Formats: sequence, C-alpha cells, structure tokens
Amino acid sequence: MKQLFVTAVRDFETNTMGKVEMREMPMPEPGEEEVRVKVLYSSICGSDTHTLTGHLGEFEEMTKAMLPMTFGHELSGVIDQAGPRAEKLGYHKGDRVVVNYARYCHACDECRSGHENLCQNMEFVMNGFAEYAVYHVSQIFKIPDTMDLKCAALIEPLTIALAVAEQAKISFGKRVAIMGAGGIGLMLVQLARLAGASTVTVFDLVEDKCELAKKLGADYAFDPREEGAVDRAIEAAGGKYECVIEGTGAVSAAETALKLLARNGDGVYFAMYGKDPYLKVNLHNDFYWDQKHLHGVIMGAGLFPKAIRTAPRLNLDAIIQKEVPLSRYTEAFDALYTKKYAKIVLKMDE
Ligand SMILES: [Zn+2]
Ligand SMILES: [Zn+2]
Repeated sequence: MKQLFVTAVRDFETNTMGKVEMREMPMPEPGEEEVRVKVLYSSICGSDTHTLTGHLGEFEEMTKAMLPMTFGHELSGVIDQAGPRAEKLGYHKGDRVVVNYARYCHACDECRSGHENLCQNMEFVMNGFAEYAVYHVSQIFKIPDTMDLKCAALIEPLTIALAVAEQAKISFGKRVAIMGAGGIGLMLVQLARLAGASTVTVFDLVEDKCELAKKLGADYAFDPREEGAVDRAIEAAGGKYECVIEGTGAVSAAETALKLLARNGDGVYFAMYGKDPYLKVNLHNDFYWDQKHLHGVIMGAGLFPKAIRTAPRLNLDAIIQKEVPLSRYTEAFDALYTKKYAKIVLKMDE
C-alpha cells in the first residue's frame, strides 16, 4: 500500500520547503483491540504546514530526529478489518468512521479527570496519509450514513474548533473576533453564528479567505496589514470584542488579539507559534484593570461525538477548497505553500 512520508523539513539555508515522498509499504495488520481503516479522505492540517514550512518553534529538533516520518491525522474512511475485541465492541468491516489520532492511556490523573487532551502518556498516531491505517478501537468513531465522507475528514479539526469555542465562551449577543480564516477559523465563524454572536469579525492576509469568511457568516473581514484595521474592527462592532480567538501562529496577530479583547473578555490562543513565541501582557491594564481572561487550547477532550453531531449544521464543504488524488500529492503540497486554500484534502482511493 502507498503511504506519504515527510523526508525533510524546511531548510532555511538553501531556502527549500519540506519534502514529501510516496513509498510502498507493507499492509498493516490490526491487533486484537485494533481496526484497520481503508482511508478515503485525508486532510492537510495547519500543523503539517508548520512542519513543512519550518514554523516549528519548540518542536524543530524533535521533528528532525523523527525523519523520515509518517503524517496525516485528519481522515475519514471505512473499517476494512477489525480485531476480535474490536468486533465484540461493535466495530465491524464496512463501518464508516473518523479517527482521533491521539491515543490516551486512560490511566493517568488527567485522563481520569476528563482531560484526556492532557494525557501524560499520549501517543500520536499520525499515519493518515496512507491507503490503510491501523488504530486502537478507542480512537475510532462511527459516523452516520448521511454524512459526506470528504467533509467527515474535517471532524478532527472541528473538535478543536469546538474546544476553542467553549473556552471563548461564545454565546448570544457577544462580539467575536477571529484571527485567521483557515479551516478552523472558518468553522469558528459558523459556530459563532450558530451560538448567537451579535458580530463576527475575521482577520486574514488572503482576500479570497476574507470573502469566504463573509459568505460563511462573518459580518466583517479585515486585512490586518491595512492601516487602522484594528480601530475599524472595533468601530464596526461598536466596541471591543468579548470573545477573541487567535489561530494564525503569528505573534503580531496574538498582540492584535489582545488589543481587540474587551474588559472581562475571553481570549483564546490555539495556534502553534514559531521562534520567540512570547506575548507581552500589561499586567496592570490587561489583567488588573480590564480583567481579561486568556486561555490556551491543546486539542479537545471528549468532543468527537459532539463534533459528529454538529457537523451537519456547518458548511464544511465550502471550507475544502481543493481536492487532489493521492497519486498527484505533490500538487496538494505545492498548493499548500501558496496559502490560498483554507483546506486541501487528499482523496486516498482512486
Ligand atoms: Zn491537525
Ligand atoms: Zn492518560
């Protein structure tokens, strides 16, 4: 079976992007408690972009040591073979499924307190850019027959969007600002609308993504490089924003997010930041006087069932702006570097 590998991260000296290679691999066999998934769609994540464009920050040395490495963690498919224990638990050949690439130990204090996303013994099973992939049954979630399998590849990032929306405390009448109209940003635009936000404002460098954000429900979209964009965004909303979300990974955007945040507002930072990932906070103005609340998010806990139920309420199809067959994978990664597309999905069976 065919599988993609990252064979190099970005080399800043020669100014070459990371490299992806397709290799022929033996068919993986599921164990007693595992299932083998025939992968149908596998989506490229922002973190894959960071790996390939050298925006790794703290992860750089660790990533280099892992090369060549398998990757891919946003996928949908059909169970192709189930181990005996997985069968017993009700997971069978032919079931349409999505996957949580994180495997939790269910034995540490975090797991046992409902914070599996902080599991001390977490295993990352990143092997979704392959024709077949094996997972522990606890990582598998069935999806309804009515759900489009291509859109289902976005369930994993939707769990992140839900975790972010919960931290941001989005609700009726609140003003929501979102830095970055990537896949998760565009999901958050729609979640904010569903939750009754009074104003939804998006910031992105790419005009087409700003337009798409408006189509999906944003009231305003700004290019943060434009003179006075922050002031105009505040003026448009009639004040600062109760909920501000930063998903770009740019420190400048993290600073802008803090400026947009209202007194007693909730700011959420969920991106991967590169080198020097420091945000200057004015302890007197921001924390003491304005009582701003800043939150971090690393994945979600227990949100797959919720994401599967929420997905039909969102337009995920519009977020997938490019679909490329596995055999032409190089086109997908070249397109990724243009930064024009919110989401690029590889079609894994041809
Ligand atoms: Zn991801
Ligand atoms: Zn654990």
